[in-house]
Order: sequence, then C-alpha cells, then structure tokens
Amino acid sequence: MDYKKKLEEAGALLEGHFLLTSGLHSDKYIEKMRILENPALAEPFINRMKELSPETDWFVGPTLGGAIIAFELARITGKRGAFAERSEHGRELKREFAIKDMDKIVIVDDILTTGNSIAETIKAIDKGKILSAVVMIDRSSDKIEIDIPIESVFKLHIKNYQPEMCYLCKKGVTLTKRGGKK
Ligand SMILES: [Zn+2]
Repeated sequence: MDYKKKLEEAGALLEGHFLLTSGLHSDKYIEKMRILENPALAEPFINRMKELSPETDWFVGPTLGGAIIAFELARITGKRGAFAERSEHGRELKREFAIKDMDKIVIVDDILTTGNSIAETIKAIDKGKILSAVVMIDRSSDKIEIDIPIESVFKLHIKNYQPEMCYLCKKGVTLTKRGGKK
C-alpha cells in the first residue's frame, strides 16, 4: 500500500509556506480532514492501525481526529472508543467513559508532530493500563519523549524551520496559517 500516494490523491498533502501550531514554518502540510472526511479513503489507514494495535479494551484519542479514529477502531474490533477533550489544563476525559482499573487502553491519533496531544491524553487517563499509541502519520522531526511505544502507519519526512531560518520567508513567499487548537 502506497499511503503517501493515497494522501496526494486525496489532496491531503499540501505544498506552500505554512505556519504550524508550534510556531515553526514548513513547506508541506498534511490536511488530515481530507482523509477523515472520507471513510472509504480512511479505511486502509484504519485497518493498518488495527494491525499495529495490541489486544485492547479501549481506543482513546485526543479530539478531533483522534476521536473519529478511536470510534472507527472500536467499531471494527468490537471494543470501545473514547476521547480526550481540551480543558484548561491540557486534556480531560469528560464524558464519564466507563474505563475500569483492569482495562487495557491503546491511544490513537491522526498526526504525530511533537507528541504533545498524546502526552496530554496519557495524563488525562486515570484508570486502566495504557499499552501503546498508534498514529496514522508520523511527521515528527525530533525525538518524542513519551514512555509508551508509538507505532505509525507510515512516516513522512517533513522539515520544520525556525522562522528566522526559513528559506521561504527569505524568498518572501506568503505565509499561510494552518492547524490550530482543536
Ligand atoms: Zn517561513
């Protein structure tokens, strides 16, 4: 399966000059909603995530994309899905999800950049045993400091630039803001 080609065909891999949530600049951007809006297109990615997941009771993802993925994985495995929403202090499981002390949990998300959403989701979970995290696309460039194994369907090498080091800024290319707090 050529996952990168699938992204390109869906118009999910954009080229330009982007300001990321982290404040860094990049010449590529993954518009994940082009995948998640289309279940038929998302299906092979979700199926691969299932293969990468250990046996679990729950899939838990950060909003918004992670919530959709958690639901899909729960649906195809007959397990349960939950999501961690933004709160004043990172993230929170707000909906009285019935996670028990002995339950196994796999954390899922769409795109891994800094690992921040996964770290916040781990912090939000106060019951059960977290086994690992599985993401759709790993576009991280720095080492992720998280104590659980992280698997990805595929890795995409996208360089991020500090604004003062950005070659597109030097060329005067218009900067587009993408992403944001979800
Ligand atoms: Zn720039």
